[in-house]
Amino acid sequence: MIQYDNHRQKLALICSGQLSLQENVEFFLSNIKKQSNLNAFISVFEEQARKQASLVASKIAQGNAGKLAGMVVAVKDVLALEGEKLTCASAILANFTSIYTATAVQKLIDEDAVIIGKTNCDEFAMGSSNENSAFGAVKNPVNAEYVPGGSSGGSAVAVAAYMCDVALGTDTGGSIRQPASFCGVVGLKPTYSRVSRYGLTAFASSFDTIGPFARSIDDVAAVMEVIAGYDDRDATSSKIAVENYITELSLTSDVLRIGVPKEYFGEGLQPEVRSAITSILDKLREAGHQIQEVSLPSTRNAIATYYILTMAEVSSNLERFDGARYGERAENSANLNDMYCNSRTEKLGKEVKRRILLGTYVLSAGYYDAYYRKAQQVRRLIKEDFSRVFSQVDVLVTPTAPTTAFRIGEKSTDPLEMYLSDIYTTSANLAGIPGMSIPVGSDNNGLPIGLQIMANEFQELELLKLGSVIEKIMR
Ligand code: GLN
Repeated sequence: MIQYDNHRQKLALICSGQLSLQENVEFFLSNIKKQSNLNAFISVFEEQARKQASLVASKIAQGNAGKLAGMVVAVKDVLALEGEKLTCASAILANFTSIYTATAVQKLIDEDAVIIGKTNCDEFAMGSSNENSAFGAVKNPVNAEYVPGGSSGGSAVAVAAYMCDVALGTDTGGSIRQPASFCGVVGLKPTYSRVSRYGLTAFASSFDTIGPFARSIDDVAAVMEVIAGYDDRDATSSKIAVENYITELSLTSDVLRIGVPKEYFGEGLQPEVRSAITSILDKLREAGHQIQEVSLPSTRNAIATYYILTMAEVSSNLERFDGARYGERAENSANLNDMYCNSRTEKLGKEVKRRILLGTYVLSAGYYDAYYRKAQQVRRLIKEDFSRVFSQVDVLVTPTAPTTAFRIGEKSTDPLEMYLSDIYTTSANLAGIPGMSIPVGSDNNGLPIGLQIMANEFQELELLKLGSVIEKIMR
């Protein structure tokens, strides 16, 4: 049983002796076991989690525990944790053990969070349904015949199905927001560079971000406060000071200027998703917030631009998985070249190979100008669209995804159809701005609907502010 809405309440219960952290960890461990059919985890750290819980419980009793003391966290298996497997849900890394810990994970540990396990995901975080895992598909907890979204599906499921308090995911084109939407939890993708990528296995380095999933805005804020900030091991991480999100959140009751981009409400939007978003906008208007329609004309080019650029980065980032330097190697190769070729052919999944091939193509001498350079130019136009609207409004509200969760297998044979489920999320990564998905009800089948909030770079606080307002509307 969970007797708390957020970490602050949990800590108060532990301090007053009403909740035992050890029992709380057992509760999560037993939920992981009971719901193993959902396939949310690749590794579970049963013994370490128990040990850590006792240690943290005594620190709490002595009054010297960290900010996140006792928060039980699951980590997407593309993030490194020293001494543990780092599979990236790929057969090529099935037996690879990490020799160091990602900065974001280390920061949680330093604040006395308890790491309960590593979650399943799409192979190397490439996918929108979590069907591309060498460890099998992850299932939606509301209905196991449906996908949980991807690529951080395991993390979203772990939070939605009470297998942990919060989870870390990564978002390159929507992989935190889209599964958050499909599973009915909150998921925040920070500004590019807000959280150090040290220890994150690279997918598309100029897009990749790390962020939290939680059941409350408060917990998202608590985790962001800890994981954000400069890290001298990631030269791209930002030196801009991190705000005290929790304190700031409790202080403000601003009137927000909310933009509604018309390009996000076009063809292909499921009617129930549209009406859920519209009804929230009506309530926000009634509460005194200013709502205005805005336009982001380059949105129509986002999917094409995103896939050209990320595949180009994939073809170069995944060069290192060659059978020699990391992970598994194919047996019985005649020579070195064969060994590279056989290892990659045998051990990488279909979607990953498709992206390496397409990425190599768009970077090749004859096509670089037509595809890669052009896409870089369009990326700039997308960024400029956002800069223009953020001079008029504080935040944007859109659907997170055009539909609720789809059936397992429904789109897996049609990559283009699958890529279209990212239509509302990729723009934020192209522009480097933050976005968050928050649950706003469900469709006629009981499948969750997500609302996306976007803000200008480093304005995570604006997302959290509007998120809290919507969370109250939904209660
Ligand atoms: N679904 C998108 C893709 O397949 C986004 C993945 C991600 O954000 N990691 O590329």
